[in-house]
Amino acid sequence: AKSAGGNRFELADPEADARAITRHGLTTALPTALDRGEFFIEYQPLVHLGDGSVRGAEALVRWLHPQHGVLGPDRFIPLAEHTGLIVPLGRWVMEQSVRQAREWRERYGDGNEGRPLRINVNLSPCQLTHPGLVQDTVDILERTGVSPDALCLEVTESALIGADDDLLKPLRRLAEMGVDIALDDFGTGYSNLANLRRLPVSVLKLDRSFTQGMQQFPADPVDLKIVEGIVALAHSLDLAVTVEGVETGAQAEQLRILGCDTAQGWYYARPGPPDRLHELALADATS
Ligand code: C2E
Ligand code: CA
Ligand code: CA
Ligand code: CA
Repeated sequence: AKSAGGNRFELADPEADARAITRHGLTTALPTALDRGEFFIEYQPLVHLGDGSVRGAEALVRWLHPQHGVLGPDRFIPLAEHTGLIVPLGRWVMEQSVRQAREWRERYGDGNEGRPLRINVNLSPCQLTHPGLVQDTVDILERTGVSPDALCLEVTESALIGADDDLLKPLRRLAEMGVDIALDDFGTGYSNLANLRRLPVSVLKLDRSFTQGMQQFPADPVDLKIVEGIVALAHSLDLAVTVEGVETGAQAEQLRILGCDTAQGWYYARPGPPDRLHELALADATS
């Protein structure tokens, strides 16, 4: 920390100092971490609530830092956005994940009644405004030979609040190609629900806070009503509903009854290496 005249309050908070030093160290190490191969991806299965089958996975990036060990995205994505590394990093995540999806398909064929395992990739708002997004995505799908409908891009609701046509244009083009767009962390952004019709999205990803409201059985009646309303609205607009943060069977059951389509959470599996998904999909296919 800056020692402006020996400010005692700063000295009195060594933890804040340590955090600032770590942040500084991370910012310095980040630009070259991609070249050094320090990032890796964990996959968390997306499970169909109706029949329990694995339908795909969300790609979640991690940084294996040589000194600090494994760092979660919350520690470095904001820095990557700030330094601009998010564009090449996001491209790398997409390419790795799509390659992984192809490998799953090669191993398991087009399981799930002809539907290949799908891959969900998070997009930062910085990637949305980057002019190369559509072409990069097309290139990756062509290089890997993966069909666009096996890819779902997750964009947070807050990134699209008040979005103008310039911001939506690349998403529209991707959607026209057959790529699914999911509205991530839905319900936290206070967006105008009527606005949903304008957005080229086909999936609503209900924020974890709603899932937390389903912890007790029976769940909080107000939470139930809200989720019920969102599901009805989503389905009337032909949108699928995915729920995240499902940690218990009771939550899964209530969300299934409420009509949610797909779920994700520790109850099914923590994010893990790609072979873990192989095992889950296989167990599913043989059960
Ligand atoms: P998100 O997209 O909302 O991802 C879901 C987060 O919830 C993940 O945290 C996941 O590990 C965690 N999670 C999954 N199941 C459960 C559960 O049952 N209970 C609880 N408490 N948590 C659960 P993670 O991996 O730390 O990622 C945090 C955020 O970082 C993500 O939130 C996403 O916004 C961002 N992120 C991750 N990977 C990428 C990436 O490749 N690119 C970009 N731009 N952002 C990413
Ligand atoms: Ca996400
Ligand atoms: Ca989310
Ligand atoms: Ca989130």
